[in-house]
This record gives sequence, C-alpha cells and structure tokens, in this order.
Amino acid sequence: MVELTVTIKFLAHASFQIKADDTIIYIDLEKGAHPKEQAHIILSTHSHYDHCDPVKIKSVRGADTVVIAPADCHAKIGGTVYALQPGEEKFIDDICIRAVEAYNETRFRSPGNPYHPRGLGVGYIVTVEGKSIYHAGDTDFISEMKELGPIDVALLPVGGTYTMETSDGADAALAINPKVAIPMHTWDKAITEFKEKVEGNSSIQVIVLTKDSEFVLD
Ligand code: ZN
Ligand code: ZN
Repeated sequence: MVELTVTIKFLAHASFQIKADDTIIYIDLEKGAHPKEQAHIILSTHSHYDHCDPVKIKSVRGADTVVIAPADCHAKIGGTVYALQPGEEKFIDDICIRAVEAYNETRFRSPGNPYHPRGLGVGYIVTVEGKSIYHAGDTDFISEMKELGPIDVALLPVGGTYTMETSDGADAALAINPKVAIPMHTWDKAITEFKEKVEGNSSIQVIVLTKDSEFVLD
C-alpha cells in the first residue's frame, strides 16, 4: 500500500480537520471553527457546547457522512448518529475510529462533581493511511493513556480548569510518547513550559498550531 500524507488542520479550540487524500474527518466542531469541505466522518468527544455544535456539524454533513458522538449528543445533532464506548471501534472504509476513556480525576465543578465524569465523553484514536491520531477530548492525565498503543500525533488539551494544564499535560505527552504532540483547548498560557518539558525529556516534537494552520504528517 502506498501511504499518502495526512494533514491535520487546527480549526479552533478542540476542533480539527484530518485530511487523507480526499477523505475529510472533523473532530469536535464548535462555533469558532469554519469547516469548508464536506465531511466523510464527523466525531464529537462529548456534549459540551465547545465540542459539539449542531450548526457546524450540519454545515459539512452530507447524505453519506458518518457521525459518531456519545448518546447524549444525538438529539441535538439529529439524524443517524453512532456512539462508541471506550474500547469499541468502527471501520469506515479503511479508516478505524476507536473510542478511549476521557474523564477528570482531579478537576471538580463542585466537591465530588467532576467537570467530566467517567462515562460523559470519550477520546478517539483515528487510524488512517497507517497513521494513528489521538484526540484526547476533555480529560485529565489518566492511567489509560499509557495503554493507547503507538500514536503518531496526540492532540492534547492543556489549558487547565476543565482539562490538563501544562505540567500534567506534558506528563501525559511523555506517557503516550507520540511522534508529535499538538496542544489544544486553551493552551496559550505557559505553552513554552509544556514544549520545554516535553521536548527536553523525549524525542517528541511539539507543534503549536495557530487557527486554520495545518501540520502535514508523512
Ligand atoms: Zn468539556
Ligand atoms: Zn472543552
């Protein structure tokens, strides 16, 4: 098989477009994203508004688009939507979508009430053209991240409050050990610290994408 390049474009916040040949995959479309091309696959990690915007999803959804999101997103997205539990996978042509755990262990809205309880959302590993791209969703650094298998690119939330921050985000990157780590969500504060900690302790390359810029994986 001839491997084609895979392009990862940062749209906004946790929104990305993955493009492999003519196949378009979107993850976590939200209001700040401006997707232009019709989707083959649309993924949402969880129902929070900044990860699942029905208007943006509708704007790139065609008759054959496969939409995958947790069950509590289905009513607001509408139409046929699939859900994957952590550990489950779905093949769409040659593309494999695997759901993995994503939850908070240490970040709470109120005592005993995490922002992202286990079961609310998932992360996804998208395997396309022999490349594995991990979108972590909203999560803390959880032990399951050590068992993801080989990852080429890890998209990691490192903005703090609802997700990891630079320090534990860097620990997560080191545990996952992808070839490339790309911060997302709200990372602008202290991103230098993240990059230095990750790159100083591994051969992982940290790529910071600005809005609508892309990274080509080959
Ligand atoms: Zn969230
Ligand atoms: Zn979020």
